[in-house]
Amino acid sequence: MLKDQDRIFKNLYGLHSWQLPAARARGAWDGTKEMIARGHDAIIEEVKASGLRGRGGAGFPTGLKWSFMPKEDPRPSYLAVNADESEPGTCKDREIMHHDPHLLIEGSMLAAFAMRAHVAYVYIRGEFIAEREILEAAIEEAYEAKLVGKNNVHGWDFDIHVHHGAGAYICGEETALLESLEGKKGQPRLKPPFPANCGLYGAPTTVNNVETIASVPDIMRRGATWFAGLGKPNNTGTKLYCISGHVNEPCTVEEEMGIPLRELLERYAGGVRGGWDNLLAVIPGGSSVPCLSAADCADVTMDFDALKALGTGLGTAGVIVMDKSTDIIRAISRLAYFYKHESCGQCTPCREGTGWMWRVLERMAAGNAQKHEIDMLFEVTKQVEGHTICALGDAAAWPIQGLIKNFRHVIEERIDAGAAEPIPASVPEAAE
Ligand code: SF4
Repeated sequence: MLKDQDRIFKNLYGLHSWQLPAARARGAWDGTKEMIARGHDAIIEEVKASGLRGRGGAGFPTGLKWSFMPKEDPRPSYLAVNADESEPGTCKDREIMHHDPHLLIEGSMLAAFAMRAHVAYVYIRGEFIAEREILEAAIEEAYEAKLVGKNNVHGWDFDIHVHHGAGAYICGEETALLESLEGKKGQPRLKPPFPANCGLYGAPTTVNNVETIASVPDIMRRGATWFAGLGKPNNTGTKLYCISGHVNEPCTVEEEMGIPLRELLERYAGGVRGGWDNLLAVIPGGSSVPCLSAADCADVTMDFDALKALGTGLGTAGVIVMDKSTDIIRAISRLAYFYKHESCGQCTPCREGTGWMWRVLERMAAGNAQKHEIDMLFEVTKQVEGHTICALGDAAAWPIQGLIKNFRHVIEERIDAGAAEPIPASVPEAAE
């Protein structure tokens, strides 16, 4: 269990003020000048040594990502902070921006300095109105206190701007985010070139998640060894877990990486509704990863490697719990509808495949399908996965693969019963 003194996000629940004096009392902006005095590369090496992996879903080592930025380049370098948190089941970055925005601002300055950038953009989700207002007010405080801006007390000119998105899920994909920042339609770019070579305005750019960046000041203050001593090897540090669905007390909580899923649910979320034996499935990392069956949930730990070994992923650590009252086919079909709706339409497998998969799932949920279509559906998910410009295609395919892998018998029973449930009116394009 994570000790109180090891928490990074000490105001996660907003029990105290987000403003500068309170943030400083919690430790923010303490020793930032000394950290910067250590030099660009020393910060990158410290973050590398901490083992911090990106908290936005992919889990790529943060220090390594920073080291891809050019050291000598006539073009300006940029940091883009991805605050477009839109993955269903995920609600952690908004808590940081709402209750501890100075950690994010300080982390942005450190990250930008490490990568020799003088400017950072925070791309915030369109629906996050209050969070944007608070973040902007906190940035104003930081400017007034000369913590950021030109000629600030830290000796590294640094400007930070907030850009409010318009609510498109795909703008959380890093290159779509950059397109949107440039004022264009938010559609992912083909990679390579990667943003570290050709990012915002064609200049070197690194895109990092809010939680990743907000963790950096504490890593620098307390040292890489402290962070690496938490969690498990290759899965170090603390993590914000967002627990929703059929638990008694849904919550967002900071815990060590590698905490057993069952302990996480029982200690913090009041356990599964109706008891552990009433558990049907858990989506462990936000809606885009395959679900785990109840049997798999019994012993799994919440970290990148353990979940990968079970064919799913930690993703954003948005833990969606489903008890036995869940119509699992209908639930996955609803997620399929989400990805169909959010597809930007650039690539055929995603644009056509997401709609096709959703329509088949809707029929299966109603028992109006044939058993051979289960394999056909699986095959189509494989044709979408890995054949698109961005990972939305994978995100649409994986939940369906998880359904077929773990709950094929439920689909078959539904088809056998021919239970012709009406397609709910809440799905607006159900008539398609
Ligand atoms: Fe757009 Fe989907 Fe292709 Fe991503 S995979 S670029 S969302 S069409």
